[in-house]
Amino acid sequence: MRVPLALGAWIVAGTSLGWGHAAAVSAEPADPHDVAPRGASTLPAELVSEAQVGSAVAVVTLELPETSAEPRTEAPATRYAALTNEACESELVARAIPHRLVGPKRGVAAPVRLTGPLHEVSFHTLLPSPERGRSSYELFDCRLLLALDDLAKLLAAQDVVEVMYYSAYRPPPAGFPDGRLGERHDGGLAIDIGYFRTKDGLGLNVERDYQAFPGERPCAQGPPPKQMTRSSFALRKIACDAIEARLFNAALTPGYDPTHRDHFHFELSAGAGWFVVR
Ligand SMILES: [Zn+2]
Repeated sequence: MRVPLALGAWIVAGTSLGWGHAAAVSAEPADPHDVAPRGASTLPAELVSEAQVGSAVAVVTLELPETSAEPRTEAPATRYAALTNEACESELVARAIPHRLVGPKRGVAAPVRLTGPLHEVSFHTLLPSPERGRSSYELFDCRLLLALDDLAKLLAAQDVVEVMYYSAYRPPPAGFPDGRLGERHDGGLAIDIGYFRTKDGLGLNVERDYQAFPGERPCAQGPPPKQMTRSSFALRKIACDAIEARLFNAALTPGYDPTHRDHFHFELSAGAGWFVVR
């Protein structure tokens, strides 16, 4: 039976798990972007559109994956968000995820840098490449990296080879108490993805290609998205695959509000047992 995905609501039930900070591993040079509110300072190399790869007329009939309203007790997001720093870091090693533990970052329980591709999918911000290795925007809490590793596996199955995001961690504002763990971007637990590139060179630009319909809810059946271009379908499938796999506690798409017109916001929430899909 095809069932629209149950839409959650914000439930303020998440409580801090009191994660201790991992031992400092490596100090990093100062990041010039520490004070900027958002990561994008340059656009990616021009993304090739469907017209340029010869599939401008491709129209794909919408056939989204089946979703289920049944609760799942062991969703990956739930498990990852409950991991201790030590358990998370052990899992990074066990999965051979290329990474480097970094020294303390305000608001982040276990800050980590990704140092290579995940399942042959590269993840990077839109910053010039020399700046990426030291930008705060490319820091993740360890737990988010586990979810992104799962996401990469799904993306690889769709021939995606590159993910470009605005930011993951965003340093909390001045006055944020030392020692407090942040949520969402403040805690390195969320990522804003704006672009994907496929093996055949097609660029998927969320702002240009998603083409949200008024009131559209991701993965829900119903009017009007009956037909769409390859790019808009591919972006919906990316979002729906991640949602269906319960990789993140929150998934916000361009249909949600104007702020999200140009990216997918994927987020883990410490201790959460809820899911928000909009
Ligand atoms: Zn976000």
